[in-house]
Amino acid sequence: MTGGAEVVAVPALGDNYIWLLHDRDSGHTAVVDPGDGAAALNALAERGWTADQLLVTHWHPDHTAGVAQVQAASGAEVWAPGAERAKFAGFDHGVGEGDRVTVGPWTAEVWAVPGHTLGHIAYILPEIGVALVGDTLFACGCGRLFEGTPEQMFGSLQRLGELPGETLAYPAHEYTLSNVRFAAHAEPGNAAIAERLRAVEAARAKGRVTLPTSIADERATNPFLRAASAKEFAALRARKDSFR
Ligand SMILES: [Zn+2]
Repeated sequence: MTGGAEVVAVPALGDNYIWLLHDRDSGHTAVVDPGDGAAALNALAERGWTADQLLVTHWHPDHTAGVAQVQAASGAEVWAPGAERAKFAGFDHGVGEGDRVTVGPWTAEVWAVPGHTLGHIAYILPEIGVALVGDTLFACGCGRLFEGTPEQMFGSLQRLGELPGETLAYPAHEYTLSNVRFAAHAEPGNAAIAERLRAVEAARAKGRVTLPTSIADERATNPFLRAASAKEFAALRARKDSFR
């Protein structure tokens, strides 16, 4: 992590993570996808931090249910997908593809990454090599297609996959073990996946957070990112949806 940036995982709602993106120099803190307001506020209080800004990737309640509580407690302003205003109304700044958001000393580029929802966005912070990807890209996996088409999600993942390899992606769920098990099933000959499966099993046995994940690791081990076409992606997604 470059300079004064610090990113903290706050476990919430079983398998969600609320990410706190903090700048040690200025004290600025952005809260990403607060699905549980109390969990976010407790984590902030433990560190003596205050929420200055809320960044939302998509409208689903496990990403937004705590927004009003954190906002009321802190006065923080809220950025969220403008395209999802009809489904989630409590925000100040509607943003979409090409918009730029000042986050403490950094600038986040807003990317439209449709697929999981139609208005889903990611916040990309090239200065610190951070990608806040919500439920689009997971470690070794990707979000379910609740609203978008396989073509849209394939395009979103391909685009994220073109970020510099050292970029760290911060997905909103601890789905890694289930995902890497599926990946090992989908690509039985992939040594990088086999190695990752061993590492993730060991980490989860100790209750460790398996995120963030690097784009380089995803290129090597994520079958959804490695799919050669939207058609191949769609077939994989269908297999994963019924994989146990
Ligand atoms: Zn979601």
